[in-house]
This record gives sequence, structure tokens and C-alpha cells, in this order.
Amino acid sequence: MSFELPSLPYAYDALEPHIDARTMEIHHGKHHAGYTNNLNAAIEKTPMEGQSIGAILSNLDMNNKAVRNNGGGYYNHSLFWEVMSPNGGGAPSAALATAINESFGSFDAFKERFSNAAKTQFGSGWAWLCVHKGGKLDVCATPNQDNPLMPGVGCGGTPILGIDVWEHAYYLNYQNRRPDYVTAFFNVINWNEVAKRFEANK
Ligand code: MN
Repeated sequence: MSFELPSLPYAYDALEPHIDARTMEIHHGKHHAGYTNNLNAAIEKTPMEGQSIGAILSNLDMNNKAVRNNGGGYYNHSLFWEVMSPNGGGAPSAALATAINESFGSFDAFKERFSNAAKTQFGSGWAWLCVHKGGKLDVCATPNQDNPLMPGVGCGGTPILGIDVWEHAYYLNYQNRRPDYVTAFFNVINWNEVAKRFEANK
């Protein structure tokens, strides 16, 4: 059994004008496909073959660069497509809204923390909203394809929202203007999906 590139839950152009179709096509069809193929090659005939991606990352030997980079890349992008939607934007409701208020003070305070984490991550990486057992939320950023499921990485807990700040995620449309991309991302966040992940992992 090997990992498969998940299909996008919407068309390549569905997130325009916030994220352009060409970027989505290359990002999903080339970058994510590459991580998926390289992950499969890296775990072939090892004890990791047949394990869930969550189990592989949670128990990862961080010196295993092939699985760290490609397993992270596989997982991170699989989450990324799901937490965006052409019907996204706005703000969360119900229990997730309450948890955000309790953890950060307000939705606006969360938005600032998350945006700053994304804007100030030096070079390639991700910014995350994570939930710890008990429902406490945290924001952090990680380099490359690392994520907080991995031992000793970031804020720990389970990522329920993430933004890819590698240049391949925004450069065609935004060039060096990462802050504009981060602002636009808030127009496509699928808060229903984030709330589902919050409920499942809190
Ligand atoms: Mn990417």
C-alpha cells in the first residue's frame, strides 16, 4: 500500500482571484505529486510502509531527511487543500470561535498572530494553528516541510489550519509580496473544515 496524491476538492481556478489557477495546478500536480512519490520511495520496504501518515510523522526519526521532507510535504499539502474553499473566508463559529477567543483574546488577535507567523517565517515553511488535548489553541511557524506532529517541532499538538509560505505557493501572482498573499488567504479559509479538525483532535 502506498500514498496517493489526493484530488483537489475544487477546480484549479476555484480560489481565484486570491490564489491563481496556474499556481494551484503546478502546486498540486507537480509539487505535491513529487512529495507523494518521494515519500513512497523513502518508506518502501521499511517498517513505515503501511502506517498512517500521522503515525509516521509522530514517530519520525528527524535525521531521516527523505521521510521528514517528503512525508511532511505529503501531509502538509493534503491538509492545505482541505482547509481552503471557494466558499471560504469570514470567521469561525460555535466551539472553535470560543476556543479562539479563550486562547488568543479575540479573532482579530488570532488573525494577527497567525499572519505574523506566516509573514516572518524566514525562507520556506508554514504557519500553523494547532490544537492541544483539552482544546487549547496555539500558533507557530516551522521551516521547510516540518510540522508540529513531528517530535520537538513547533508548538506541538495537531495542526488544524496551515498556510504554505514557500515561494511556489504565491510567487506567480504575488512575486515577493508574501504579506498580500497571507491577507488573501483569509478570504479562502474553510472554517467548517478547520472546526471539524478542531472537534476531532481537541
Ligand atoms: Mn507547497
